[in-house]
Amino acid sequence: MFDAILIDKTDDAQSVSLTQVSDDMLPEGDLRVDVAWSTLNYKDALAITGKAPVVRKFPMVPGIDFAGVVTESAHPDYAPGDKVVLNGWGVGEVHWGGLARTARVKGDWLVPLPEGISMRQAMEIGTAGYTAMLCVMALEAHGLTPDMGEIAVTGAAGGVGSVATLLLSARGYDVAAVTGRASEAEYLKGLGAASIVDREELSGKVRALNKERWAGGVDVAGSTVLANLLSMIRYGGTVAACGLAAGMDLPTSVAPFILRGVTLAGVDSVMCPAPRRREAWSRLASELNMTRLADLSVEVPMDKVIETAPNFIDGKVRGRIIVPVAPELG
Ligand code: NDP
Repeated sequence: MFDAILIDKTDDAQSVSLTQVSDDMLPEGDLRVDVAWSTLNYKDALAITGKAPVVRKFPMVPGIDFAGVVTESAHPDYAPGDKVVLNGWGVGEVHWGGLARTARVKGDWLVPLPEGISMRQAMEIGTAGYTAMLCVMALEAHGLTPDMGEIAVTGAAGGVGSVATLLLSARGYDVAAVTGRASEAEYLKGLGAASIVDREELSGKVRALNKERWAGGVDVAGSTVLANLLSMIRYGGTVAACGLAAGMDLPTSVAPFILRGVTLAGVDSVMCPAPRRREAWSRLASELNMTRLADLSVEVPMDKVIETAPNFIDGKVRGRIIVPVAPELG
């Protein structure tokens, strides 16, 4: 038996509890891991609260990422004792995830713990940080450089936004941190933001084009926020879009694309191919300021995860939430 957060559904009613689960309920997989650290992300909050149909198979252990130690392996690349990281691949949605003491997964989904960082630090980064790096890589792949002007980061005080602000400012970009929480201005400046923009400025009626303001953007919001952002991107700029905190829709026109040559680069962390994942993790391990990263992470124990999840839906979470599942493992 092992501790796990378990989401179940009977007669259309969802229940969630921290409970003891039997080993024989573990899903299929060629590798077993003792989970040391996991995290809480926006998607986990949707799964735990049932606010969106993230979970597609019940019962489900949520947790879209974890860091841990391999205990059994039938996979040629991993042996017992190896430290590993997992993000995405439907874990916490269709396959049991990281908010449990034990996980059984496919070895192909794993990334070896990058040199120079601990399992705790890997989860301070987590899916949010890894996605932020995929966004930075997307902007750079489209030719963005720091001399081209400010980059707007929406949802800047959240998980993806905080790490994106940290990464971009460390690479020499001027970051305009877009936030709905004026109270987080000092926090965002501490991460390296050059200016703070009230989210209201991107929440009004969308015009096809607005005054050119930013060279690029990282967007976690979607909907009206992304549409307004696109209308304010300078000629030839790029926006990396990864989220839907404001909504799934996108009420824009083709004007930014055909009149200003703006690129909208989609970023997905879940099914991202292994080589790009490894590149992202290796860059995170070498480029992120781990001391600053530690400052933006808060620990929430397993027995407080369920009550903390609604804070994401209410937009109250600052930075990253990490969950010590078996922190004695390292
Ligand atoms: P968080 O909850 O930590 O951050 C989201 C932030 O968005 C909030 O802190 C808030 O920031 C802002 N926000 C909240 N509501 C709104 C709104 N109505 N309009 C505009 N901004 C809003 O979540 P994460 O950072 O973990 O994830 C952000 C988004 O990215 C989510 O939609 C998530 O599903 C998505 N995501 C996608 C991934 C992918 O692979 N494509 C991977 C990881 C995340 P502030 O208060 O500063 O405005």
